[in-house]
Amino acid sequence: LAQHFLSRIQGSDLNAFLHVDPALTLEQAAAADARIAAGTATALTGIPVAHKDIFVTRRLRSTAGSHMLENYVSPFDATVVEKLAQAGMVTLGKLNCDEFAMGSSNENSYFGAVKNPWDKTAVPGGSSGGSAAAIAARLAPAVTGTDTGGSIRQPASFCGVTGIKPTYGSVSRYGMIAFASSLDQGGPMAQTAQDCGLLLNAMVGFDAKDSTSLERQPEDFNRDLNQSLQGLRIGVPKEFFGDGLAKDVEQAVRAALDQYVKLGATLVEISLPKTELSIPVYYVIAPAEASSNLSRFDGVRYGHRAASYTDLNDMYRQSRTEGFGAEVKRRILVGAYVLSHGYYDAYYLQAQKIRRLIAQDFAAAFEKCDVIMGPVAPTVAWDLGAQSDDPVANYLADIFTLSTSLAGLPGMSIPCGFGQGDKNAKRPVGLQLIGNYFTEARLLNIAHQYQ
Ligand code: GLN
Repeated sequence: LAQHFLSRIQGSDLNAFLHVDPALTLEQAAAADARIAAGTATALTGIPVAHKDIFVTRRLRSTAGSHMLENYVSPFDATVVEKLAQAGMVTLGKLNCDEFAMGSSNENSYFGAVKNPWDKTAVPGGSSGGSAAAIAARLAPAVTGTDTGGSIRQPASFCGVTGIKPTYGSVSRYGMIAFASSLDQGGPMAQTAQDCGLLLNAMVGFDAKDSTSLERQPEDFNRDLNQSLQGLRIGVPKEFFGDGLAKDVEQAVRAALDQYVKLGATLVEISLPKTELSIPVYYVIAPAEASSNLSRFDGVRYGHRAASYTDLNDMYRQSRTEGFGAEVKRRILVGAYVLSHGYYDAYYLQAQKIRRLIAQDFAAAFEKCDVIMGPVAPTVAWDLGAQSDDPVANYLADIFTLSTSLAGLPGMSIPCGFGQGDKNAKRPVGLQLIGNYFTEARLLNIAHQYQ
């Protein structure tokens, strides 16, 4: 298996992988073989996995898609990497992503864009674009991603694969290079919900090294896969089907909802009135946290240091000027601004209050339904380069994924068809499933019944 995927990676021109070390992979594969022979294998032993380059690894570089960390090798493995290795998974390498996970198209990577395997002129989505492309192109059977405002769900949607962002706090953030700590959450992507469940089983768990890690009884996320959907109440938020939604995406999503009705579910119209506000709220809170988290990259302790400078301050300035890309700088500036004296109350505090209201809207909605469904993104994948100079266009396209993250709820994307017309005919559409806290097993069941 490891050899099969290594050779597929070698033959690929998608730019999905940033670092591959065949010797390391084959060494782990041999260890997995020995474990299988010894009878101590888990369901995942010997199965190859690749990690988003946001998770730090001891034996492969960890760049976060940034020039700042181009040659960085971590002294430890992220908890997620360690847990999957303990289950016996074999590491294929590290996957391209937007710089520090900031983006929706993977075009913010210092190492260049990733191509969408369905149509190489399209973006794969982001920020976990390399992860989604690797699954879609069969370069890996399982990958990790991270989702701060949609970065697992949206690339899964654009590349026609399955991904789940669990409830905030379920998966340890230790060794996940921080972007916005109150939102960042790791999760798996794979071909199917069942595969995602197997991966989630190994990824989830309390970690004393992450201060927001949740302490809960272990559970088998695949325990309910075969449950009937008879009587399931699906909440359909009217704000997710407004003017901005492309016709072809709406058609595919509505067809999936019809399929669920055939499986015994009923559709309930619900309202998530603050949906539009999730964009300004997220783009205040996430940059605020990012500006704080990224202050550690000072050219002293980690990563890139400028070759020439006049004094200490100039060294900080030059190293950060050279090390960070445009989008990262933009967010640091926005974040520093909204946290500054005189603006904190006007922006940051307001955003935090609306964040609470967004969570309350979900709580009210879940009194009327068991799961919420809608599109993941307003359109199918756009063309490479089409909006790489237009940050606001990218921010607006996050409208359906941000509120789930702000509320800390679990969310999933499953493939539900393709765009229409000559150009979009091969570009996948994702159906978004949003559940109440800790209903991952239910979400996987609902996805599995469709698949
Ligand atoms: N597209 C969003 C952003 O640019 C979300 C990214 C993410 O979830 N990491 O911030």
